[in-house]
Amino acid sequence: QGQLVCVGTGVQLAGQVGQLAMSYIELADVVFSLVPDGFADRWLSTLNADVRSLQGYYAQAGEIKNRRNTYQQMVDAMLDEVRANKRVVCALYGHPGVFSCVSHLAIAQAKQLGFSAKMLAGVSAEACLWADLGIDPGNSGYQSYEATQFMLYQHVPNPCTHVVLWQIALAGEHTLTQFSTTKQRLHILVEHLSQWYPIDHQVIIYEAANLAVQSPRVEHIALADLPDARLTTISTLLIPPQQALALNPAMLAKLGISEMDLG
Ligand code: SAM
Repeated sequence: QGQLVCVGTGVQLAGQVGQLAMSYIELADVVFSLVPDGFADRWLSTLNADVRSLQGYYAQAGEIKNRRNTYQQMVDAMLDEVRANKRVVCALYGHPGVFSCVSHLAIAQAKQLGFSAKMLAGVSAEACLWADLGIDPGNSGYQSYEATQFMLYQHVPNPCTHVVLWQIALAGEHTLTQFSTTKQRLHILVEHLSQWYPIDHQVIIYEAANLAVQSPRVEHIALADLPDARLTTISTLLIPPQQALALNPAMLAKLGISEMDLG
């Protein structure tokens, strides 16, 4: 009976993959992969003889292709093997189901067809961000959005918490056909954010290291300078809190406690 297991390989080559994910990769009949680079694909090939990169489904040079088509083709390729009663593993970098629709789509379709399908958690880029920047997001709470969705919908950032914007290099790119955005759209994002933050607020462009020998990129810039910053497909933007948390006096009163009680 065919089955599908989506696993995360973490961000850093070979070092952030769980034991269970490793054994699913080793025991699979076929492994479909979407990992940061050729090193990661070669490492997967040491674990399983049939590793097929999904990278080729993205638009190739000169081709214009909507990423929705790309994702459906990836899902179809995996489902074909599940239907052929293979044990299929979908190995995606980071966490396989965080800001990544392919695994969710594939699992839903496999289940609909009556096959067993599940996801194992992995180490996401955001998990690396808190570690590399030495931040406990629990101290103030945090919000996490895909940058374009943040712009297109009425999300309201809370300047008392950390705000993470994923896919910042694509901010405002709604066609799903381009792999970068424009300065003009980044200016519009800065202008939008200036409703809640001063434009000299220091934000961080973060890129976790894919290899243990590399260091993460941690670049502090003023919000106003975002349109001129070097952004890549792996850049994530962190907007640290700009204000201290404010107590909720009505809630304190309801709970019968005072500010002094909080220590
Ligand atoms: N599933 C992945 C994960 O769990 O990390 C996220 C995939 S999402 C489609 C791609 C976005 O993840 C990038 O645009 C960036 O915001 C973030 N990302 C991916 N690799 C990263 C890295 N090495 N450092 C920081 N952010 C990264």
